[in-house]
Amino acid sequence: MTARVLVVDDIEANLKLLQARLLAEYFEVLTASNGPEAIDICQKGQCDIVLLDVMMPGMDGYTVCETLKSDPRTAHLPVIMVTALDQPSDKLKGLEAGADEFLTKPVNDLALTTRVKSLARLKMVTDELKMRVTTGQDFGFSNLGQEALDPLGGKEGKVLIVDDSAASYEMVVKTIGEEQEVNVITNPQEALFRIADEAYDLVAISLAIEDFDALRLCSQIRSLDRTRMVPLLLIAQEGDDASLIRAIDLGVNDYISKPLEPNELKARVRTQVRRKRLNDRLRENVQLTMEMAVKDSLTGLNNRRYFDSHIQTLFGKAQAAGKPLALIVMDIDHFKLVNDTYGHQAGDDVLRTFAERLNKNVRTKDLACRFGGEEFVIAMPETDQELAFVVADRMRREIAAHPFVIDGGTNQISVTISAGVSSYLSENDSINAMLKRADEALYTAKRNGRNQVITNTAAAA
Ligand code: GH3
Ligand code: MG
Ligand code: MG
Repeated sequence: MTARVLVVDDIEANLKLLQARLLAEYFEVLTASNGPEAIDICQKGQCDIVLLDVMMPGMDGYTVCETLKSDPRTAHLPVIMVTALDQPSDKLKGLEAGADEFLTKPVNDLALTTRVKSLARLKMVTDELKMRVTTGQDFGFSNLGQEALDPLGGKEGKVLIVDDSAASYEMVVKTIGEEQEVNVITNPQEALFRIADEAYDLVAISLAIEDFDALRLCSQIRSLDRTRMVPLLLIAQEGDDASLIRAIDLGVNDYISKPLEPNELKARVRTQVRRKRLNDRLRENVQLTMEMAVKDSLTGLNNRRYFDSHIQTLFGKAQAAGKPLALIVMDIDHFKLVNDTYGHQAGDDVLRTFAERLNKNVRTKDLACRFGGEEFVIAMPETDQELAFVVADRMRREIAAHPFVIDGGTNQISVTISAGVSSYLSENDSINAMLKRADEALYTAKRNGRNQVITNTAAAA
């Protein structure tokens, strides 16, 4: 994973040091030597994460962080405060300014990469979700509200602690219990089942459990389908670095070292809970968004965009295998009159019902779509023009024979359609030429009096 990291520090040597370490991990690095410069870069959207020194002349890190977090353009940017002072009060000040993470100078390499990676992931999901929300709104879908982006600020999550030592977990429970619902499991052998059974937003595992390989548990969690998405936080001791490096490789999201600092612990837990929630929402919406992108919202048929991409595949197959491919273009007759006489709502009803009937009359391998307005196109693989004509004409008769119900069942109207058929003719044929021939045939059907199907038998250009 790569991300653009902005390093802000007034001391050139510090900038260089952090830059070198981040570059070694393949992050892109930008630097700023004072607050205003940093804010400018952030506002221009040039970075994904900010590593922010606290002590700077002029504008200090807290003020920079506050400014970023209060501006909608930059509020979603994760901020890591880099503090020389290891005082809980400094961290509290940072938290109040809206910081997402803390690193203490001298910055430990493992801590640096873990925290930057963890926040880069969070930023990625947030960006993705933001994009979907915006696109959803453009399409007029309101299912994904803006509130989805900051669900509870990472609080009120469900957290499981895996730890066999009361002395160790009691402090954790007390601290994060203020913001999260916390369960403890003292028998690590049972942890995997518990995690698979219940929906946790975070699992915190102690590396100090006696006679137990915590990393094995992490690896099992990551390989089981039902558990692999849950964020993992390790509770480490000083000297656990080697294990932690392996843990990060296994996909553990973050760690915190004893002695645990309460505010840091809370902040780390919040970050992971937030990411989990955003991830969940993102996955829920991927399906929906994919459908939105390819389906016509009125009829549920494939839309033109979908047709345009899939017809390429069908055409390619026909060409390669030398098999037939037919196109039917259908258009409702005098549809304007339906709207004018019965209203737009009735027109919509007709379009919906038409789509349902169309779906019933095509095979699953056929590609039926609403091309626009009251025009529909069906691409039929392995179908020659004679068979396509039969299908189109059957559809035409079915439509003409059964009136359409409108106005919630109180009214019925007769509807007819006209259709044009074309088929793949030779190697130098093209999709556009086929569509054009079907359109010409449709036009002929209209001119000849409507409610009929015409096949275009012209040779390909
Ligand atoms: P023809 O037999 O020559 O096809 O005549 P027509 O009236 O069907 O064709 P025309 O292209 O003149 O009119 C199509 C109408 O379809 C005009 C447009 O307002 C209406 N229409 C397009 N999309 C929709 C829609 O989504 N809902 C409704 N209710 N009407 C639509
Ligand atoms: Mg029409
Ligand atoms: Mg028309």
